Amino acid sequence: MPHARPDRRRPDSLSDLSMAVHAGNAPDRGHGALRVPIVMANSYELPDDPSAISWSATAPGLYTRNTGVNQAALEAKLAVLEGGEDAVALASGVAALHAVFFTHVRAGDHVVVSDVTYEATWRLWTELLPGRYGIEATFVDVSDLDAVRAAMRPETRLVCVEAIANPTTKVADIPAVAAIAHEHGAIVMVDSTFTPPPFYRPLADGADLVVHSLTKYINGHGDAMGGAVIGRRELIEPIKADAMVDVGGIISPFNAAQIQRGSVTLPLRLRQTFATAAVLAEHLAADPRVEYVAYPGLPSHPQHDLARRLFGDRGFGGMIAFAVRGGPDAQNRFVANLRLITSAFSLGHDDSLIVHVGTEGGRVAAYPEEFRTHGHLRLSVGIEDVADLVADLAAALDATFGAVDDGSAAHATDPAVVGAGV
Ligand SMILES: *Cc1c(COP(=O)(O)O)cnc(C)c1O
Repeated sequence: MPHARPDRRRPDSLSDLSMAVHAGNAPDRGHGALRVPIVMANSYELPDDPSAISWSATAPGLYTRNTGVNQAALEAKLAVLEGGEDAVALASGVAALHAVFFTHVRAGDHVVVSDVTYEATWRLWTELLPGRYGIEATFVDVSDLDAVRAAMRPETRLVCVEAIANPTTKVADIPAVAAIAHEHGAIVMVDSTFTPPPFYRPLADGADLVVHSLTKYINGHGDAMGGAVIGRRELIEPIKADAMVDVGGIISPFNAAQIQRGSVTLPLRLRQTFATAAVLAEHLAADPRVEYVAYPGLPSHPQHDLARRLFGDRGFGGMIAFAVRGGPDAQNRFVANLRLITSAFSLGHDDSLIVHVGTEGGRVAAYPEEFRTHGHLRLSVGIEDVADLVADLAAALDATFGAVDDGSAAHATDPAVVGAGV
């Protein structure tokens, strides 16, 4: 029986915190349930009159590879959070990256890609797409705008960057890169996995498409995989038709519902995580047993001023790349000595994760010198108490190298630093 109460209109403009709670979370009209029910059906009953059926590839009420209840609710929310017209949710972040490339680039086109790009993007543009489909890719240091300009060709269709790159934390000047791309008739895709809304919104800075691994901060709880692309309808609609209906990498209704729930606390988690990361980065940078720290919030970071310009006073992200002295063996012993922070691949979870990234692989050649000589650890700061994380890092450094008395624990909970907002 349909639920009797008419739609309650929400206020037209809401702040980031309220939007994260309410977008895509309206009571269900069918049952009055306060949350969108998880609809696992893979097919929908068709009307008796075939002329009443919409055969559009992405019409609701047909088949779950065309769209589903939970997927649609998540997409509506992601579009609102990123300030985009439309969104498509897919099975993983990599499925979302592939969907952009598969739909918007074709044989004979050229793409410009950041030289420190995410591993799977690197493989797609070195091993898979050029060889199989005849698309050429040029890798450039996107922090060097002259290099970006020089790489553009008449047939350049797409420029592909990360706002903060995984794992080097290199920051791209999105407005400037977008201006160059648009002058040459290309579109810009920003993988914004490290910089989710409301922290940063690349569409407002000139990007045409934003990609997220929903697996990371947006779900935030380490219990579902998903990916999304957000942007203008004319760019998203063809991705839905190609990547969902004809390639089939759709998100499961259950995962869409998990991610929808996780995203409710996104602004709160980011605020906590980014404030804590700033404190941990300072601690690590001040410790003589640490070789180097790459964190955009540190004045020593090569793009610190650019990061300030792009992110304002909202913080500098929750990811820290660093190395402890003594090479790979010492790094491994240090990681093994951590008790609270877990060694694992993912990032953006509620719990802090660390991974020892090797120094092999083609894209590593573009890494800053210290990454190549010393290797590095990638720390994804969680929402645990900052004092517990400081203590865990300090205890693991002591267990690996012996204690130093530098008084570095003194500013661990400096309220001026901890209170920095998202
Ligand atoms: C993890 C990640 C991806 C891929 O996402 P999956 O959900 O693991 O497929 C893409 N880009 C960046 C920057 C990532 O960190």
